[in-house]
Amino acid sequence: MIKKYWKDFLSLIYPNVCYNCDVALVEGEEKICLRCYRDFPLTKYHLTVPNPLVQMCSGNEKVKGAFCYMKFNKHGIAQLMLHELKYKGNISMGLALGQWFARYIQTELKEAEIDVIIPVPLHKAKQRKRGYNQSEVLARGMNKITGISIVRQALIRTKNVSTQTKKGKVERWQNVDDLYQVINAEQLEGKNVLLLDDVITTGATIAAAAEVLSVSGVGQIYLGCIASGK
Ligand SMILES: [Zn+2]
Repeated sequence: MIKKYWKDFLSLIYPNVCYNCDVALVEGEEKICLRCYRDFPLTKYHLTVPNPLVQMCSGNEKVKGAFCYMKFNKHGIAQLMLHELKYKGNISMGLALGQWFARYIQTELKEAEIDVIIPVPLHKAKQRKRGYNQSEVLARGMNKITGISIVRQALIRTKNVSTQTKKGKVERWQNVDDLYQVINAEQLEGKNVLLLDDVITTGATIAAAAEVLSVSGVGQIYLGCIASGK
């Protein structure tokens, strides 16, 4: 708690300090100092065989690859930055994360010939409450670097149920049936998509989204996330 107040206090006097370690940022650094940036717990899942995120969608033959930026550790740097984006309305943090992630996998995105980014949608009631979809903010950051367009009106979340809390794993998986629906499928016809979420935990929700996309006529599907606890 004291650390938090100290941080808030510091940010009043020195608005440009590293979110992770509180050192003053220098020219060219944004949000995070270079040292912390170099220490990001990268997963390199896209270079791992088998890729643990692709394995979560086993049986879905359109899922060709998956990119995960960082390992999710409790109280780790990925959680800190995503918390800023999700619960503190820090949109610029989300845009920065999206840009860094895009730079990290820029070559792979080109090789995969990704046509569009589809942010995993929130239920409309949840989005109204938060005011924005964090995955869409990340997608906007990625778009700034890659120019890959974002499709917002193709995938919708139909149920507003919690898939994570207080439920066993089996129940979680059963719970995701019909969680998402594809609308206006023609705009995705034959397109290679990057399905983008902020965090992947069990993989149940993103696998459900990939499933409805796979039967809607898309080309290949790649998964992307900023952090995963896998
Ligand atoms: Zn730092």
